[in-house]
Amino acid sequence: MMQEGILIQCRHCGKPNRVEPSKAWGRLQALHCGSCAKELAVDRYETLTGLQPKHYQHPLDQRARRALNTLPGIDTLLKTLLREGLVKYHHLLLRQNAVEVHPGHLGRVHRFLVHSAQTLGISPLPSLYVQQSPLVNAYTYGAGEHVIVITTALVDLLEEDELETVIAHELGHIHCDHVLYKTAARLLSTIAVEAASRMFGLASSLIYPLIYGLLYWDRTSELSADRAELLVNQDYKTSVRTMLKIAGGSRKLAAELDVDQFLAQARKTQELTENNILEKIYHIIQESNSTHHFPIWRAQKLEEWGQSPQLLSLLCRNFPGANSGNPEDPGEDGNTSSQEISWKDITSEFRNIFGF
Ligand SMILES: [Zn+2]
Ligand SMILES: [Zn+2]
Repeated sequence: MMQEGILIQCRHCGKPNRVEPSKAWGRLQALHCGSCAKELAVDRYETLTGLQPKHYQHPLDQRARRALNTLPGIDTLLKTLLREGLVKYHHLLLRQNAVEVHPGHLGRVHRFLVHSAQTLGISPLPSLYVQQSPLVNAYTYGAGEHVIVITTALVDLLEEDELETVIAHELGHIHCDHVLYKTAARLLSTIAVEAASRMFGLASSLIYPLIYGLLYWDRTSELSADRAELLVNQDYKTSVRTMLKIAGGSRKLAAELDVDQFLAQARKTQELTENNILEKIYHIIQESNSTHHFPIWRAQKLEEWGQSPQLLSLLCRNFPGANSGNPEDPGEDGNTSSQEISWKDITSEFRNIFGF
């Protein structure tokens, strides 16, 4: 079905313009104001001045974060754990064991960081390291000061636009203020469980619910960072191709990888599981120990949001709430597709996790 046009307020003269999103994608820079003739959408790497995380954060991220914040003492616990040296420990390890990226060293990769940070309005720049590893991975950590790490396997696998997309994704975590909690999720779920229990006398019955709660939120936070990368690359196919390579890419197979086939795989899987309660339960079990939603679901959401009126409005610097009187302004929560779980589902999952 054809999408109806949406009203875009010109960022130069303020006059409304009716734009049809389905016709706008792929020719954003050709959209001009009917009154002043200036460009409606920002150029790539132009700062989205006025952009706030709430303008694009995925509703599940916002809601899960609120639920996480209701856990008694979580801030104090996390700050204590992190302040006691876990972040410093990892920082030192990285400085000794990885390559720091700066304008004078790996300058091309550094430019990806600069461009993405510029778009999202992030300053100061975080540190960026390339770490030798056969695992395709990227992550951001820190408590106050932020550090992005990308692995050599990731660099070798991806083309430049895809690598920039990954860096934009990591910057999205910084923009959305995810990093303290993500650092805690990673540390607690890997090296710190035993140490934390010993150091602070915390019973595992307290630590494990915290870990599962953090991992649940951690997965939902990925959906917001995926949206941040779309604000930077303005092209969901680049994002889906990146996801496809992370799921099963290989340099030898690169020429044969097909974004549309990957999205078709997602649709087929969705059809198979949609009305099958057992498969839904299996899915929850399979994801419960993971820090990320599985790639096909993320690819599907990238495709969906990457062509949405909400993204188009943001790229024209029409931010929710800023254009009072515009009935077609996307709400704070944006569009929620029918396949997303409801808040009731979230609270019941939390109840299952925490046993109350
Ligand atoms: Zn205008
Ligand atoms: Zn992420």
